[in-house]
Amino acid sequence: MVLTDEDRKAKKNTCRQNSEYKTDKHVTYVTNRLNILSHYSKSISNSNIPCCNCCGENSHVDFLAIDHIAGKNQMNSEPRLIKLGYSSKLKGKSLINWIIENNYPKGFQILCHNCNVAKGLIGNENTCTHETIRQEETFARMEEQSSFEL
Ligand SMILES: [Zn+2]
Ligand SMILES: [Zn+2]
Repeated sequence: MVLTDEDRKAKKNTCRQNSEYKTDKHVTYVTNRLNILSHYSKSISNSNIPCCNCCGENSHVDFLAIDHIAGKNQMNSEPRLIKLGYSSKLKGKSLINWIIENNYPKGFQILCHNCNVAKGLIGNENTCTHETIRQEETFARMEEQSSFEL
């Protein structure tokens, strides 16, 4: 098949339209994600700059993730979320759209990928290792203080 100039032009336009469409969608996704990251970390960051709820990481949004505080599957049995149509199957774009459509429901926090993975490791009981270390340090300090007072 030989493409005429007209065909070529038409094809080019279709491609351009498609890529613009994708770009628009991508911009919406990035904006929505950024709004979610800022919203859920505002009480920690005191600004619009999103950060990790555990270690404070805020150098780039690529390092941050939306964390299901109680655990993705546990949230399936929360009546408040079920009513809003929550499902643990919501991931990536569909989770982002669902959060926006439901006006930032409670149950999520922002963690960096490090903290998020550490929190999810088997045996860590939904607690990041940073938090466990902090608790141990506080406990050690309290012990030190009480032995000092004796
Ligand atoms: Zn972190
Ligand atoms: Zn952490």
